[in-house]
Amino acid sequence: METGYSDPTRSSEAISHLLLVPHPAQGHVAPFMKLAYRLADCQVKVTLVTTEFIYARMMKSMKPTFVAGMQTLPEMGEEQQLVRIIPFPDGLEPDDVRRDAAAMSQSIYRVMPGYLEDLIKTVNQQEGNQKIACVVADVSCGWALEIAAKLGLKGAVFFTASPGILPMTLQISKFLESGIINTDGTPRRNENIELSANLPPLSPAELFWNCPGNPSLQNRMFAFVPTIYQILKSCKWVLCNWFNELEPSVTDLLPNIVTIGPILANGKPSGNFWLEDFSCLSWLDRQTPKSVIYAAFGSSSMFSQHQLNELALGLELTGKPFLWVVRPDLIDGNFAEFPEGFTERVANRGKIVEWAPQEQVLAHPSVACYLTHCGWNSTMEGLSMGVPLLCWPYFGDQFYNKTCICEGWKIGLWLKGDEKGIVSRQEMKKKVDELLSSVVIRENVLKMKELAEKSGRAGGSSSRNLEEFVKQIV
Ligand code: UDP
Repeated sequence: METGYSDPTRSSEAISHLLLVPHPAQGHVAPFMKLAYRLADCQVKVTLVTTEFIYARMMKSMKPTFVAGMQTLPEMGEEQQLVRIIPFPDGLEPDDVRRDAAAMSQSIYRVMPGYLEDLIKTVNQQEGNQKIACVVADVSCGWALEIAAKLGLKGAVFFTASPGILPMTLQISKFLESGIINTDGTPRRNENIELSANLPPLSPAELFWNCPGNPSLQNRMFAFVPTIYQILKSCKWVLCNWFNELEPSVTDLLPNIVTIGPILANGKPSGNFWLEDFSCLSWLDRQTPKSVIYAAFGSSSMFSQHQLNELALGLELTGKPFLWVVRPDLIDGNFAEFPEGFTERVANRGKIVEWAPQEQVLAHPSVACYLTHCGWNSTMEGLSMGVPLLCWPYFGDQFYNKTCICEGWKIGLWLKGDEKGIVSRQEMKKKVDELLSSVVIRENVLKMKELAEKSGRAGGSSSRNLEEFVKQIV
């Protein structure tokens, strides 16, 4: 196997080499890519493996200079020479739909372990002093940890969701025994659940496997909890996109938790599946400071056409400039259609893009607040840039993230849906006004930004933890 990766300047020097295995979805590949660059900053060589399908998407949306850097290692920055991506087939046919996470995981499980094992063996024969010492896998890629163990390598998990949901996983037997949930994960009582010392109580609707209206997905997610539990318990390191100052008791949940967040791209490639539209940055340059609502809902949230109309009209009703990310697949099976006359009416103050350079947008001085689905990466990015959050959770951990944001750290407000779950335009206007006039939220947001920055700086808690981890895997 051609590994296409050598750096003659390092030939006599043994360095650590890690293999990263993210689940093939945007909210997983992106933080893994960011982790790759953070590790490269610590002089660690990184090989990230993903599926050919995802690789092709990433290469299409990456800047050509970075693609060249990945493949041929020319005179790029030192740390960029330390990162490469290797694609494997995912076992599906070219035309198969890849949105079905369960089908995708099954197929990957069938074919990828073989490729991974071959890769590790080949690399460790060819790259004498740069052998892969450790596999860092997503919690949904436990098979990669089994291969690491089989080949005598170290294994670590990188948990990309919010560690706020770890207590739900770790206390699953308690939930069952005390009758908090049924054997299918459905809550039995409408009572809040205390999770840990300082995190807010969890309402039963916020159990991360809870998928009202989609029992088969709920069953699959709930059935996976014991596997997550086993992996978390048995792995020596569980790297988390979290920082101690956010809530120190998270590290008491398990002795192996290593907080290394916020994991940010800081201008490096972050494995986007869509092409970032940089025109929104020059558009932001033309807006007044702290005036713009940034609305983006991650990579997999979906809206009904009715809800999208209400959202559009809500943005219009706020009377404020807005930057709105409307992914081509934001509406299930269709292209989004805007309400009649909407684009003309907001032409002077609305900018719509398919995918934004999100970190740069959030760091832009014109941004006033972030209307978010509360995905964990997006939450950490908003929190790190000191932007007040308007929460519109959609799935999984996002519901409890919303509670941590609004009731725990008090850095945002929640948009409530009506009895049919629809968030009205009036609710949006009301909450935007409330959020932007709240002195308490503004102060908390700035404090949080400072804590996040401090933890990531040299000598900060997350930097020290990452360095310590790197020392241990050599
Ligand atoms: N993102 C981006 N541009 C966009 C929207 C999102 O780069 O226009 C990135 C965002 O910065 C984050 C990731 O996509 O790193 C989304 O991950 P998250 O965990 O927030 O949500 P998910 O996509 O998993 O629902």
